[in-house]
Amino acid sequence: MKLPKIRELKEAITALIKGPYTTKFPYEPHTPKPKFRGKTEYSKDDCVGCAACAEVCPAHTIEVEDIVDKDKKTGKRRITLFHENCIFCGNCVENCITKKGIKQTQEFDLATYDRKSVYSEVEKELVLCQCCGEVITTLEHLEWISKQVSEAEFTNPTLYLSKLKSLGLSSYEGIVGLIPFQRARRQLILCHKCRREATLER
Ligand code: SF4
Ligand code: SF4
Repeated sequence: MKLPKIRELKEAITALIKGPYTTKFPYEPHTPKPKFRGKTEYSKDDCVGCAACAEVCPAHTIEVEDIVDKDKKTGKRRITLFHENCIFCGNCVENCITKKGIKQTQEFDLATYDRKSVYSEVEKELVLCQCCGEVITTLEHLEWISKQVSEAEFTNPTLYLSKLKSLGLSSYEGIVGLIPFQRARRQLILCHKCRREATLER
């Protein structure tokens, strides 16, 4: 006869004292453990729209869409997480730059007829290069960077001009045509390519 191992004996005694490991779900509601990694959702207030979570998602289930209106020189970034492909690895939560932009809830029963509940979405205003119209990042992402670098933000016109603009203290639309010299354009909101060109211009 095969004798039980010490580990199995210990588990059997624990189960006798504390009750079984399994639950009676779906006949009784199941309460997951505190660290359970369930449905992944964005927090609209704490996400800044940097898209780092999409970069690290191994299941490629986070879609980033930059919608730009070239005539109005405005744009928005839409980030959508589709739950059906999520493998609940927690990589997005772990690598979120604000640490609060995305979280995993205790929700585990994801079967639904409601199409709106099969994804989680955030939309953020984009900042575009004032010279070429290229997407730089979102306004909230630039504000977040400004806070991290503190007073060093004043060394980067893209950071402090975006902040002034979001505070409603200044407006720079249409100013590009008024600045004839390339180097003077360094004092604008620029993508890395235009900033390099403006800086190297003699
Ligand atoms: S939990 Fe993992 S698979 Fe799901 S969205 Fe986050 S990174 Fe992607
Ligand atoms: S702030 Fe966090 S949740 Fe929002 S886009 Fe960036 S990494 Fe993703």
